[in-house]
Amino acid sequence: MAKVFNWQLGREMDYPYAGHRPQRQFCMIMDTNKCIACQTCTIACKSTWTWGRGQEHMLWNNIETKPFGFYPTGWDVEILERLGPQTWKGDTYTGKTIFEAAPDGEVALHWEPDQADWSNPNLGEDEPTGVAGEETYIPDTPHANMWMYYLQRICNHCTYPACLAACPREAVYKRDEDGIVLIDQTRCRGYQECVAACPYKKSLFNLETRVSEKCIGCYPKVEQGLQTQCTTVCIGRLRLTDFVNPPDKADPRNPADFLVHVRKVALPIYPQLGLEPNVYYIPPVHVPPKYLHQMFGPGVEEAIATYRNAKDDEELLGALMLFGSTEHIIASFDVKDGVARAYDKKGDELVAVPLREPEVVRSFSYATTTPDGKPATGYRHNT
Ligand code: SF4
Ligand code: SF4
Ligand code: SF4
Repeated sequence: MAKVFNWQLGREMDYPYAGHRPQRQFCMIMDTNKCIACQTCTIACKSTWTWGRGQEHMLWNNIETKPFGFYPTGWDVEILERLGPQTWKGDTYTGKTIFEAAPDGEVALHWEPDQADWSNPNLGEDEPTGVAGEETYIPDTPHANMWMYYLQRICNHCTYPACLAACPREAVYKRDEDGIVLIDQTRCRGYQECVAACPYKKSLFNLETRVSEKCIGCYPKVEQGLQTQCTTVCIGRLRLTDFVNPPDKADPRNPADFLVHVRKVALPIYPQLGLEPNVYYIPPVHVPPKYLHQMFGPGVEEAIATYRNAKDDEELLGALMLFGSTEHIIASFDVKDGVARAYDKKGDELVAVPLREPEVVRSFSYATTTPDGKPATGYRHNT
């Protein structure tokens, strides 16, 4: 095993290959607070990439209701229980990663789902649990303290992918130009080592073609400077496809770096597993911090406090308002005079979004009289 630096753990760790960061790293930012679980993203991915033979059960993108939703069944609980205590000292992870906890002769701690585990993608859908804590948004109702939230899941295009580390055929590779992780279908022999090793269970086996497949980061779009299908169709405008730098090379004008490294409102999912995943989540504001801490690591409470303050933080508000505003990948942004502007890598403006829409209040008399001044017979909508 080589020693590599994992900035999400704040320390070096063991990995089967020497560290080599790509020239640019694909990433996605998800604002969990805005998702309505409409599954438009799921269907956009499915109708674009997984409509073929043997892909019927395959969801490269899925939305699950936490804490009881899983695809496949129990994916996170299974690996977390096997890993044992996951301790942090400040921002440094002091427990073991799945590579450091690997049994003798294995690359990573892992488990294999049964075929039936892929059969219930809507398990636990909309099922709440309790208790949310003292702060509640619906006071004086029997269910005021219950919570659940929607988690948007795609492959994390990890900096240190377990799928790549485990493949005996070296069929899994990470592209130097954008950090997207792909499986070479001609090299894969269907051993399913990647399916077992990926703790996020985002490598899937095709029972018809007998090879493994996964989210391809919509690389044909990314190569053209476009955001992914699941991003551009999102009804809640909660996704941003971009490139993220490690913290020592963070560019505050880049929206992903700004959200991840400067304001620190977007956090990696299960960083303690050690893969340096590159999908970052703005945590849900109503969920108990203890639950969020085990999922997104330290910094959850600060991230929520910063997010709650967005209305008084024009730069943060601007970055968030640019989500879903353009199909192009945003290289940089700024906020001036109440307008957020996004630019491509040549510096050309892509879009300008006002932070606040102008308000127009119609006079009540107009709403209650006919255009010729006579009293209206009822309330008139759309006047
Ligand atoms: S999430 Fe899983 S499939 Fe995707 S790169 Fe990481 S280890 Fe591989
Ligand atoms: S990035 Fe593309 S391939 Fe990956 S889940 Fe989204 S739509 Fe599917
Ligand atoms: S399209 Fe957007 S709002 Fe709808 S489920 Fe997907 S992430 Fe959530």
